[in-house]
Amino acid sequence: MPSESAIRGGPSGSQISSSVVRVPSARFPALDRWRIVSVRLALLLLPLAATFTLAQGDDGAFRQQREDMVRTQIAGQRWGVEAIRDARVLTTFRQVPRHRFVSTAQSPLAYDDRPLPIGYGQTISQPYIVARMTELVEPRKEHRVLEIGTGSGYQAAILSGLVAEVYTIEIIEPLGVAARSRLAALGYRNVNVRVGDGYYGWQEKAPFDGIIVTAAANHIPPRLIEQLKPGGRMVIPVGNPFQTQRLLLVIKGNKGPRDIRIHDIMPVIFVPFVRGRQ
Ligand code: SAH
Repeated sequence: MPSESAIRGGPSGSQISSSVVRVPSARFPALDRWRIVSVRLALLLLPLAATFTLAQGDDGAFRQQREDMVRTQIAGQRWGVEAIRDARVLTTFRQVPRHRFVSTAQSPLAYDDRPLPIGYGQTISQPYIVARMTELVEPRKEHRVLEIGTGSGYQAAILSGLVAEVYTIEIIEPLGVAARSRLAALGYRNVNVRVGDGYYGWQEKAPFDGIIVTAAANHIPPRLIEQLKPGGRMVIPVGNPFQTQRLLLVIKGNKGPRDIRIHDIMPVIFVPFVRGRQ
């Protein structure tokens, strides 16, 4: 049927198109060569473009998961936990690619409502806990904040977008080294990573506007209180390791190192704060 061959394209159709191509090519050989070159170029670039599109799509999918994480786990009202309201904190959680802070095997779970293993028996905390601790230190653009327990570097990356300078200490050397290069590769330029025992803080860079401790200690390290500015805020899980601990907010007053107010925020479970050889 003629109508059918017109739709599908038959032998007569291809004859017509090839003669159309041949005529101008005989007259304009340069044009023909350009056509061949451009087709070859397109074929060469095709896999590259496909990879790029795939990578974009991949990040796009993670972006959606990140939005959902903020909406349902962090900003959303849930029974027994206070929703995070600080708009700057919420924006930062929408931006930081949490899936880049875990192994590729774990990345499909990166935006789930749970902590994830990061090697050496350590974990990246549940998104809500990271958000709550971040909000509790009340980060401002001009602040300098100290974190004890760099781990994957995720909490440091979150702080990076909210304050002027982040100092973070990790006791497990390979974790600290990996976090340092991950943060640099992702462009977090205001984060300084040090390998060592965070029990003593970072004296040379003190005092700090805020301190976040992401491992559970059985007491508040006195040096950390000393290194907090008057009016500064520290968030720290305190209690026995391997049991539920209490997340404490420590606010330093203006009347010396003993002038502190401690607020009991909520029960939490963190990996233990370990002590180095000193
Ligand atoms: N904040 C991290 C989570 C870290 S888990 C993140 O966003 O991924 C707690 C980390 O604290 C572990 O990596 C552990 O090795 C580290 N840690 C425990 N005791 C420490 C100490 N005394 N000084 C510095 N880091 C310590």
